[in-house]
Amino acid sequence: MLVDCHVHLLPPRRLAGLMKWMHSFYPQHPVPRDVTLEQCLGHYHALGVDYLFNLVYPLRLGETEEVNRFNFELHRRHPWIIPFGGLHVEDEAKAAIVDRCLGEWGFLGFKFHPFVQRFDPLDPRMMDAYARLEHWRRPVFFHTGFEDFYGGNLPPETMEELARRFPKLPVVFAHSLFPRFDDAFRMVARYDNVWLEMTQVFGSFFDSRYVLKEYEGAKELLLEGLGPHSERIMFGTDHPTGSGTLEEVYQALDRAGLSETLRERLVGGTAVKFVERFWPDFTTRLPKKPRA
Ligand SMILES: [Zn+2]
Repeated sequence: MLVDCHVHLLPPRRLAGLMKWMHSFYPQHPVPRDVTLEQCLGHYHALGVDYLFNLVYPLRLGETEEVNRFNFELHRRHPWIIPFGGLHVEDEAKAAIVDRCLGEWGFLGFKFHPFVQRFDPLDPRMMDAYARLEHWRRPVFFHTGFEDFYGGNLPPETMEELARRFPKLPVVFAHSLFPRFDDAFRMVARYDNVWLEMTQVFGSFFDSRYVLKEYEGAKELLLEGLGPHSERIMFGTDHPTGSGTLEEVYQALDRAGLSETLRERLVGGTAVKFVERFWPDFTTRLPKKPRA
């Protein structure tokens, strides 16, 4: 099973903005600046992905409904696209937004990006949203790590505090606190509600076009810790802003030389079990993406 746990298929205006931003950092990025949603879907068709998690989030106040409705409609047209919702730190009635996305619109969970959405995960205004997600026992993805790239600061202690305050809220550390994998592995071992995912991580070590800088000992730490924690580690691509084309992102993963069992868990095995925790019948209810 192939499940891409981290994808950004967005409304046309937002997709164009995302690609412009990506090309400003990586002018040689092989996914064209004017790539369309249909072309991105074609990339998944070519690769034979079974499911993907589509992560949307508003950048501005007033954008929440637009991005969530887009994800709902995308899921309705393509049931193999598993939607995650977003909201803005200044949105009113956050519990109602969570209820609508998870109830009426059938989303699996939510995604937050503290750097680009400009908020502190422990901001008191966010607590209603976390409490409501915890009430539903549904997962929340947080962007973590890559602080040098974003010029941001999100200490591991912040994420630890969140996991501790909401013990029944499944929290996924997107990018696994890159490059602080020691903290990430420590927390996944310590907290039942913490999950990791390795989006952008392999490209940052195994694709020279996307290596920001050398982090002493980080690659070794990563390769040692993956195996023991693989039942709670997923893999995603960040397509269309991953480390290369969709195919190249998987090629970078292959250069890590993981065992067959470990690779199988990362690229889909763990994600299937993750989704089944929340939607036990999902593989029969939601048909996989048809094969090319
Ligand atoms: Zn992303």
